[in-house]
Amino acid sequence: MSGTLTVVGLGPGDPRYLTPEADAALTDAQALYGYAPYLDRVPPRAGQSRYASDNREEAARAAAALRHTAQGTHVAVVSGGDPGVFAMAAAICEQIEAGPENWRTLDVVFVPGITAMLAVAARIGAPLGHDFCALSLSDNLKPWELIERRLDAAAGAGFVIAIYNPVSRARPWQFGNAVARLRQHLPPSTPMVFGRAVGRPDERVDVTTLEEADGKNADMATLVIVGSRATRIVTRPGKPPLVYTPRAAVEVSA
Ligand code: SAH
Repeated sequence: MSGTLTVVGLGPGDPRYLTPEADAALTDAQALYGYAPYLDRVPPRAGQSRYASDNREEAARAAAALRHTAQGTHVAVVSGGDPGVFAMAAAICEQIEAGPENWRTLDVVFVPGITAMLAVAARIGAPLGHDFCALSLSDNLKPWELIERRLDAAAGAGFVIAIYNPVSRARPWQFGNAVARLRQHLPPSTPMVFGRAVGRPDERVDVTTLEEADGKNADMATLVIVGSRATRIVTRPGKPPLVYTPRAAVEVSA
């Protein structure tokens, strides 16, 4: 019997955001691998084994899942959001490239999910309506100097920036440092969106500006969107504001 490895995106939290394809992949799996809080989102099924691991153990988890698949098992590895965005899909590819030759013959399927920046953007309007980029502020896997260089380049080139992993338990100063950096490139009125735990019961979405932004608003469950010079806040009586980036860029500097 030949196994399959399915790398499944669970979306941001609410089961409504789980795609039918992801749901079917979870149902078909004989073994589930993932970070414990993500596995907790998957309802238990009789006969399905589970292997929870810490979120810093992505490489070891990927290798374990590949070994299990090579034994003829239907394995699903779960990620929050989309597995291809700062998550398990790249860890699996790294292991296949570096691992034993027979791992290259395994059936591997990547099932997309709704990533955090799209879920947050949808709550507030269309902040990603024009050119944007996504950046992880975690310096576990890259030097902080590279993050600074990318923040400078992205803000300087007029991209809206979706910031994943704004704060990590080990490095609480990162986000404040990044905001100070962005203030060198962008006006104080630049809109910022803090989307916390979107799609979960403790969801919170706040709109502020670069000038007012406070690092205390961000934690490990927060996705931050930093507008460009073109991004706008539309106030509405009795309703939350809309944040959007117009589809057309007219200024070369914007
Ligand atoms: N693969 C995930 C991202 C993993 S990195 C995805 O596609 O969404 C983890 C970071 O994602 C968190 O630090 C936070 O910045 C963001 N994130 C994940 N789920 C979120 C949610 N429900 N609401 C807001 N941000 C979220």
